[in-house]
This record gives sequence, C-alpha cells and structure tokens, in this order.
Amino acid sequence: MSDPFRIDATRALVTGANTGIGQAIALGLARAGAHVLAAGRSSCADTVGLIEAAGGSAEAVTLELSDPAAAAATLASLGDLDILINNAGIIRRDDSVDYAEADWDDVMDVNLKAVFLMSQAFAKQAMARGTPGRIVNIASLLSFQGGIRVPAYTASKHGIVGLTKIFANEWAAKKINVNAVAPGYIATNNTAALRADPKRTAELLSRIPAGDFGDPADIAGAVTFLCAPASSYVTGAVLNVDGGWLAR
Ligand code: NAP
Repeated sequence: MSDPFRIDATRALVTGANTGIGQAIALGLARAGAHVLAAGRSSCADTVGLIEAAGGSAEAVTLELSDPAAAAATLASLGDLDILINNAGIIRRDDSVDYAEADWDDVMDVNLKAVFLMSQAFAKQAMARGTPGRIVNIASLLSFQGGIRVPAYTASKHGIVGLTKIFANEWAAKKINVNAVAPGYIATNNTAALRADPKRTAELLSRIPAGDFGDPADIAGAVTFLCAPASSYVTGAVLNVDGGWLAR
C-alpha cells in the first residue's frame, strides 16, 4: 500500500535553504523521500549535511534571486524538477512616507518577481515533459494584514497570494498544483530582533492563541503535505500556520 504522505523519487528545489524556514522545509521534504536541491545565495552545505545525517539525499545549488531572470535561467538548467518551494524572502523597514524606491525594488525582485519567473520556468519544464508538479509559495500574515513600516514586504506578500491563485487556475489542468503557506511568527533570523525585545515578545505572545512562537518545522510539515499525493485535490489554497493568529 503506497503512503500518500510520501514523495519518494521526486526532485525538489527549495530557495533560501541555508537557514530558517527554508532549511526546515528542505529537511522535511528529504525526510518524506525527496531528493532536495538546497538553493541559496549563501552556502547550503550545512543543510545538505543535516539531510545526509538524517539519511536523506540532497545537493547544494547556488541561486541569487536579486536577478530574477538569471535565477529562472539557473532553474531551467537544473534538469527535471517535480517540486518548487519559493521560500526566500527579505524585509526592509521604513515609514511608508520615506520608503526608498531602491528598497521597494529590492524587496519586490526577491519576494515577488523571482517567484513569478521561477514558477514560470518550473511550469514550462513540467508542461514540456507532460509531468505533474507542485509549487508552494511562502506567504505571510502580511498577505492579509497591512503591517507597519514594511510597504514593499506587505505588497509582495499580498502579491504572492494573487500569483498562487492565478497559477493554480491556469495550471490545474496540467496537474501542477500551486499553493501557499502563510507562517505566523516563527523563530528564525527574520524575527530575532523582536524576540530579543521582552516587551514586544510579551505583546505578541498574548495575541497568539497558541501562546508561543512557531518552529520552522511547523512550516515544513504543512509544506510537505502540500507536496504529497495526500493533497492532490488542493490547489490555489493558502494554509495559515500561525498558532491561530488570523482566527483571532
Ligand atoms: P531568514 O532566516 O531571514 O531566511 C531568508 C532566506 O531568504 C535566507 O535563506 C536568505 O539567504 C534568503 N534570501 C534572501 N535574499 C536572497 C537573495 N537575493 N537570493 C537568494 N536567497 C535570498 O527568514 P525566514 O524566517 O526563514 O524566512 C523564510 C520565508 O518565510 C520568507 O519568505 C519570509 O518572508 C517568510 N516568513 C517568515 C516569517 C517568520 O516569522 N520567520 C513569517 C512570515 C513569513 P541569506 O541567508 O543568504 O540571506
């Protein structure tokens, strides 16, 4: 009997796999049976080591997303892929009234344009081969809420949900499922500054029904489900993994 939660004999590319949520996703997909292409602008050797130590299979790929077209061309050169996880993302903070155009462009390039071109390159390849595929995009609570002093991040993460839906609509008939996972407050570099601030931490934890920050492995579980046969009929969805934040 085959296990609908296994993804054996698949090749999965994860962006930003050197640290945080991306590293946890890479490990989770490998544990479920995928061969992982751990992609980063920083070395993903540690991630490959963790996967191999856990008995999985992985290789490191250098991928710089600030030039989205070049990143998409790299993806196209990597051979057949079954799974694409658009995880990498950046955040730049300033009052919207002062926000620099360069910060806007940098955030949009990595968080949105790269996701568009990488997904397009992935889908072109899968369609040419006539094989199914899975794409999971990492969204945010700021896919739904405004936030403060992060206009480009908020716009990019709202955009991620739109892209997830249009890709799902256009590609479902080709058996390419496209979904998103929206993390709440997860303990990574991204949230290190606010977790180091006791007042901010107390405010946040009192607002999270689960009463704690999430672990990167919590995101990996949801992503792995969205890559497995168990979720074959799920496409265009956004799965919130936020300890109940958005339900409040
Ligand atoms: P992180 O620890 O800061 O990781 C971000 C990843 O993106 C790193 O691997 C980083 O590489 C990579 N990256 C940034 N710019 C890149 C570029 N130009 N080219 C290639 N890779 C690049 O943060 P994280 O929390 O794991 O974030 C992962 C995703 O989750 C992001 O999309 C983020 O928006 C989203 N998210 C996180 C939270 C949270 O609470 N942590 C909540 C909601 C959404 P380097 O290490 O080389 O910089």
